[in-house]
Amino acid sequence: PAEPVDPFKQGWLKGVYSEKPVKDVHTRFPPEPNGYLHIGHAKAITVNFGFARSYGGSCNLRFDDTNPAKEEEQFFTSIKDMVSWLGFEPAKITYSSDEFDQLYDLAEELTKRGKAYMCFCSAAEVKKGRGGPEHGPRSVCKDWSKSPEQNLEEFRAMKEGKYEAGEAHLRMKQYLGTKPEQYEIVESDTPESKKEKMKLKTLADNPALWDCAAYRIKKENYHHRTGHKWRIYPTYEFTHCLCDSFEDITHSLCTVEFETLRPAYNWLLEALDHKLPNSDEKGPMQREYGRLNVEGTILSKRRIAMLVEGTTVGGNQPATQNADDLADDVEAVHLEEDGPDAESVAPALTTSSAVGLKIPPIVQGWDDPRLFTLVALRRRGVPPGALKKFVLDLGVTKANANTMTHALDSSIRTYLERTVPRLMLVLDPIKVTLTNLPDDFLEEREVPFDPKDKEKGVHKLPFTKVIYIDRDDFREVDDPDFFRLAPGKSVGLLHAEFPIRCTSFTKDPATGKVSAIEAEYGKDVPAGKARIHWVGESVAHNSPIKAEARIFNSLFKTLKPNELDWKNGGYYDDVNPQSLITYPNAMLECGFEYIRENAPWPKEEGEAKGTADKSSVRFQGLRTAFFCLDKNSEGDKVILNRIVSLKEDTGK
Ligand code: ATP
Ligand code: MG
Ligand code: MG
Repeated sequence: PAEPVDPFKQGWLKGVYSEKPVKDVHTRFPPEPNGYLHIGHAKAITVNFGFARSYGGSCNLRFDDTNPAKEEEQFFTSIKDMVSWLGFEPAKITYSSDEFDQLYDLAEELTKRGKAYMCFCSAAEVKKGRGGPEHGPRSVCKDWSKSPEQNLEEFRAMKEGKYEAGEAHLRMKQYLGTKPEQYEIVESDTPESKKEKMKLKTLADNPALWDCAAYRIKKENYHHRTGHKWRIYPTYEFTHCLCDSFEDITHSLCTVEFETLRPAYNWLLEALDHKLPNSDEKGPMQREYGRLNVEGTILSKRRIAMLVEGTTVGGNQPATQNADDLADDVEAVHLEEDGPDAESVAPALTTSSAVGLKIPPIVQGWDDPRLFTLVALRRRGVPPGALKKFVLDLGVTKANANTMTHALDSSIRTYLERTVPRLMLVLDPIKVTLTNLPDDFLEEREVPFDPKDKEKGVHKLPFTKVIYIDRDDFREVDDPDFFRLAPGKSVGLLHAEFPIRCTSFTKDPATGKVSAIEAEYGKDVPAGKARIHWVGESVAHNSPIKAEARIFNSLFKTLKPNELDWKNGGYYDDVNPQSLITYPNAMLECGFEYIRENAPWPKEEGEAKGTADKSSVRFQGLRTAFFCLDKNSEGDKVILNRIVSLKEDTGK
């Protein structure tokens, strides 16, 4: 067979490598530890780690932790977990904050070189200096032309606490002060000088080069790792490229919104001799790929926080979250007993745009399987390999990859189809007694976990006088278009030799629902037109296994929840009342024990062996859906999460 195609050695990614075809490829994934990663980050992780792996190099996990107010321990831990869950191992775990001393020294050096100055403008004055329709042409402030000595003295004073937050900041001396006459083309210009001037104009016209901030004072200055040592902190623009250089990053891959920042990235590296002008030979090379945008859900941290915590219309929406609240949300047992069961109707949702109205939480934590954070996708049972495949199948190019949640579901379905074992699971059981069989009747059927893949093995299935079938597979009143069980009608049983025919049924007077069915089984029963799934009752086989099954549907009725009115609470009216349906009395055949012991299914890197990673216990419920074991399952308490349906929109 032909060598499998390496997606990192095709197309755009191949081009990026060939621009800098070095032997030691070093990349990094640089999240800000201020929240949980989401499906978009799966692309960034796959691209950075995958690229390095394909070219025989390595990738660092860098915590871009330069913002003292926002960082929490749990985010560091969760980000590490998600990278390893996706099957990648960082060559090193680094922290931008570990470089604060070195970064500070370089800021002094930049100042000494006359390429940075201490600015005392207010935010409004800085804005005004950048020009625009209301402000007229760009202009520099009085601080722009101070001597390096004075700037250095003031920068040191800023470090020592002489100024208040907002009063002063260190700015890079880029192209804000470039005058139009410097690039005006005149008759005496040679082709070379013309070219130089055009280049200068491009730089001078780029807002990313209008003397960006390098260092500023933070009022809230307790830092997760450096404590109270610093009251001044470097900006992203100052930190990112230098940390890339410190770590010998060769290919600095980031998303397209950073493209206009590339000249600023190079400017600082060149100003400090970490890069040669107009060359990518020395130092890191930044290149930009398209973001992954998933429609049909929401990914914004702030909006997810509204769903997790609830909100008050017109009140203070949870812009930043309290660390303890977040820890509780994730750790607490959320999807507990009180969820609605299959029949109950969710509370009526009313129009709710009144100011002051309290909107309750919609989901039960950041890992609620209805969300698209990576912790939620893992809990829902999505295999990490399916996510990586999805990202790569969409392609990595400069263009944003725009997709929908149902496209992801369909890709996961295809991935699971051939990788997970199959079982019979009855969501809403009705007891069927096969009256023509003796009480102790027992037939052990040997059944493969996957008829097309012998490797997955076989298991024993007890067929007994009492079996359970799904409520959906029975009708009290027959219909010529209905091919399953009904009074007087036959139906086949998967993995059993003969069909059954219903002879009578009983209803529970209290609920009006069918509570028991009597049927006969055997070679004399006429064949049915369909085969249904079932579970036998045998104490010796520990069958059936009781379970609670949870079916997740989209959180919102609209396909475009990002367009809802989030500010005025309008999103509440669009919440799908069927987004979580619970079947508290589901029954599983006993082959489940084997699947549980032999997880992960599929076997792939990243997932812990055994049942440490409960969500890696996956199976296809025949005629039902794909399921995994929920993290809150313990011993006899089996909770199942639906990963995806078997077909699009089966409603199950
Ligand atoms: P968000 O604002 O969505 O919470 P972020 O951009 O603040 O995310 P960072 O922690 O700064 O998240 O991102 C780490 C890396 O992940 C960055 O390189 C960023 O470009 C990348 N990234 C973030 N969102 C996406 C996305 N939707 N598609 C691809 N890469 C992404
Ligand atoms: Mg960010
Ligand atoms: Mg962002």
